[in-house]
Amino acid sequence: METTTAVVLGGSVAGLCAAGVLAKHFDEVIVLERDELPPDAEHRRGVPQSKHPHFLLNSGRRAIGEIFPGFEDALIAAGGMHLMPSMDAAYCENDGWAPRKSGSMTMVYSSRVLIERVLRDKVRELPAIEIREGVTVTGLRSSGGGTARGRVEGVESSDGYLAADLVVDALGRGSSVIDWLSADGWSAPPEKTLDAKVTYTSRWYDLPPADRRPESWWWKHLVITPTQDTGDHPDEHEFLSNFFPIEGGRAIVCMGSWGVQMPRKADTFEDAVDRVRATAFGRAARACTPTSEVHLTRATGNKWRRFDLLDVPPVGLVCVGDSICAFNPFYAQGMSSAARSALILEEMLRGRDALDLAFFREFLARQKQSLDVPWMLAMARDQAYDFATGSEVAPAWRRRLAARLSWPIFNAINAASREDAYVEQTFAQVFNLDRSLREMAADPRFWFGIVRYKVRQKLGRTVVPGGFDDRQDPPGTDFTGYTRPAGRADLVGA
Ligand SMILES: Cc1cc2nc3c(=O)[nH]c(=O)nc-3n(C[C@H](O)[C@H](O)[C@H](O)COP(=O)(O)OP(=O)(O)OC[C@H]3O[C@@H](n4cnc5c(N)ncnc54)[C@H](O)[C@@H]3O)c2cc1C
Repeated sequence: METTTAVVLGGSVAGLCAAGVLAKHFDEVIVLERDELPPDAEHRRGVPQSKHPHFLLNSGRRAIGEIFPGFEDALIAAGGMHLMPSMDAAYCENDGWAPRKSGSMTMVYSSRVLIERVLRDKVRELPAIEIREGVTVTGLRSSGGGTARGRVEGVESSDGYLAADLVVDALGRGSSVIDWLSADGWSAPPEKTLDAKVTYTSRWYDLPPADRRPESWWWKHLVITPTQDTGDHPDEHEFLSNFFPIEGGRAIVCMGSWGVQMPRKADTFEDAVDRVRATAFGRAARACTPTSEVHLTRATGNKWRRFDLLDVPPVGLVCVGDSICAFNPFYAQGMSSAARSALILEEMLRGRDALDLAFFREFLARQKQSLDVPWMLAMARDQAYDFATGSEVAPAWRRRLAARLSWPIFNAINAASREDAYVEQTFAQVFNLDRSLREMAADPRFWFGIVRYKVRQKLGRTVVPGGFDDRQDPPGTDFTGYTRPAGRADLVGA
């Protein structure tokens, strides 16, 4: 019997997840990766974004766990942390610090380089997969470009030519696959783009030993959302700031913004940290020891290559991860979307023998449905900015509406989540890509919870206090199961 071969282009998160799936369905799976892959959790040239925090959403964590059983245990054993954000993170929202409270969502925290190292370890346990490092992919070979009989037949690389029954493009944002296909007569897929000029700036720190932190430092993760105050304030009040815990007693201090110039030198970074509106952020960073230079990234635009819209998609080729759809990283959707695409491939391969046009059409339709969920979430906020560019720029009236409504709705959801478990769980599902924004928007129980909270707020009858002063340390009081003291009227901002 003939040997079946799948070739995966790129050995990062998307490529490794795809390889894990393909190992069950092909005799050999060859991953071609330009970098030499480090044995441990280290940065490498091909993934510069690893210097910034990477939040693994729960749908992605589950998808990776399905592809690589034991992934989460291995990540925790290697130093990753299992945390409950509503208890372990301090959130400074529009009205100040949110109350600390038990919630439905737990998350796994670690550095991006550790996630990748654990994935590589898992891949290396699978004998069908061979990772060829230091190999640059330079082209595709295909026949019958753009016709129903056309197909991708193999891959050109610095290592020579490899014939393949299936090629998976996981080359990231910079993938040249479309250029290579066009040279062979395939139509380029339409691209949806929206660049909301998001910039990330990050620096790595060692935390002080636990016994040298003040008692008020109960939190593991600090998040400060941008102010919605329209008056005069320093640029730093517009930042989304994260003190993001990672393995090894370290944290990544990261500030991000839509459209604001961000610091890229150590001294300007430290100054900016001190000007973030919740002063605990600067105090925490000052108590830590910096261990890296400042890393700045601007390549953050949303970009979706719509292969599903082609009359004749290339048979023999699947694109996963950033190569097909890259997102503004604020919403932490990239790795999870990549893993979810790999799982769709798994489901499709399990049910089919022939890798024919019908197979690829169906894969693209199902992948489109899956990508719609994170894409809509990214658009909801990014379309509000007048300086955003790309094919998805909204008409002026919609930009104004989004600018006016998106933060107030977000704030109302966060506030209502404090005392309405249904609202809290629904929003956690949407954030984790387990439910779509559309489903949430059409859910009467969800909106009932928001309106009920708003009414209670107006009447001074909310239960859990919130909006604690952002110039103070975040309060560590656990408000789980808190009941409203009798006779007390207005508890908001108590
Ligand atoms: C600042 C920032 C923060 C982010 N934060 C998050 C987050 O919180 N959560 C989240 O889920 N996602 C986040 N992301 C997105 C996430 O990094 C990507 O979605 C994820 O890495 C999936 O990437 P990928 O495997 O498709 O591509 P990449 O990780 O970009 O990998 C592409 C791979 O292809 C290799 N390669 C490239 N060209 C060639 C070639 N010609 N030949 C051979 N090999 C090649 C590269 O070396 C690399 O290994 C963030 C992104 C950025 C920029």
